[in-house]
Amino acid sequence: MSWENNVRKVVPYVAGEQPEGKVIKLNTNEFPYAPSPMVATRIYDLAENEIKDETSMLRKYPNTNSDNLVNALSEVYNVDRDKIFVGVGSDDVLALSFLTFFNSDKPVLFPDITYSFYDVWASLFKIPFEIQPLKDDFTINKEDYFKTNGGIIIPNPNAPTGIMESREMFEEILKKNPDSVVIVDEAYVDFGADSMLPLIDKYDNLLVVQTFSKSRALAGLRIGVAFGNTKLISFLKDVKYSFNSYTINYPAIEIATAACRDTDYWKETVAKVIKTREWTKTKLKELGFEFADSKANFIFASHKTVPAEHIFTALKEKDIYVRFWNKARISNHLRITIGTDAEMEELIKSLKEIIENYA
Ligand SMILES: *Cc1c(COP(=O)(O)O)cnc(C)c1O
Repeated sequence: MSWENNVRKVVPYVAGEQPEGKVIKLNTNEFPYAPSPMVATRIYDLAENEIKDETSMLRKYPNTNSDNLVNALSEVYNVDRDKIFVGVGSDDVLALSFLTFFNSDKPVLFPDITYSFYDVWASLFKIPFEIQPLKDDFTINKEDYFKTNGGIIIPNPNAPTGIMESREMFEEILKKNPDSVVIVDEAYVDFGADSMLPLIDKYDNLLVVQTFSKSRALAGLRIGVAFGNTKLISFLKDVKYSFNSYTINYPAIEIATAACRDTDYWKETVAKVIKTREWTKTKLKELGFEFADSKANFIFASHKTVPAEHIFTALKEKDIYVRFWNKARISNHLRITIGTDAEMEELIKSLKEIIENYA
C-alpha cells in the first residue's frame, strides 16, 4: 500500500460517449460534414509517394516545429510564424499552456460553467484555481476577473453555454491583468463569434487557442493551435521541447496543412452549420425550449416543462445522443450539437414526440 501514497492521483476528464453503430450523434460537437476533400487527396498522395520505400518520411522523426503547418497557418491567418504554436489537439496546447503560464502561487480564474478540462489540468499540475460563477443568465461578470490571480482562461464562445462575450470585455480583462497570461479558448469561434486574434500584438499577455476539431471536421486528426506574441510562443515551445519534442506526426502535419489551405471549403461548410443552427433555434423555441443565443455549433437548452434528464434518456432510446450533465446549475440543460439538416429534422421530430408524451 505504501507506494500508493506516492502516486499522482487525479480525477480525469470525462469525454462524451462515442457510441458504435448508426446513431444520430449530437453529443461531442463534432462537425457534421466531411473534412476538406484535400485531406483525402493528400492522404492518397502520401501513401503513393512518401511512405512506401526507403525514402519514406515515416522512417524519420517529424519536424519538431511542424513547419509546413505553421507556414500554412501563417499565410491563412496573416500571423508571423513565430507567433504560432501547434499541438496534438487544443487539449494538448491548453495543457502545455497551463504548465507554462500558470506557474504562480496565486489562483487561476475561470468560470464555474465552462470546459470541464480546466479544473482537471489545474489539479493535475497542482495549480491553485478559483472558480468564478457566471451570472444567472450564464454571462460573465467581468469584475470577477479584476482581482489578484495567477492566470485567466475563458472560452469564447463559452462551452457549454454557446454565449459569446464582447471584444471590449476581453480588452478590459487584459488591461486589468498585465501580470497574468489571459487565455481565450476559441474552440468554437469560427461559428460566428469575434476572434481575439487581432489583439495579440496589442496585449503581450494574450494567448488565443483554436482547434481543427470543430469547424475543420478533423477531431480525429488531433490538431490545435495557439496564437500569441513571440515571447509567449517561445516559452510554450521551451516547455513542449522539455516534455516531448515530436508530438504531431508527419502525416498529421501534412494532412492538416492541406485542410488549412482549403479556406473556401471550410467557409462554405461552416456557413451551412450556422444556417442549420439558426433553423434549429426556431424549431426548439416552437417546442418550448429556452436558451441563450449560441454562436457555437451547439445549443444549450432547457425545456419549460419537461426535465432535461428525461429528454436525454428518451432521445437515447431513439438512438439520438446529446450531452447532459448532472451538475449544479445545469442539470436541467441539454447541449445539442448541430448536425446535418436531416439529423436536426429527426431530432426535432423526436423531441416533439417526447414532449407530447410527457405526462
Ligand atoms: C472541443 C474543445 C476543446 C478541445 O478540442 P481538441 O479536440 O483537443 O482540439 C478545447 N476547448 C473547448 C472549449 C472545447 O469545446
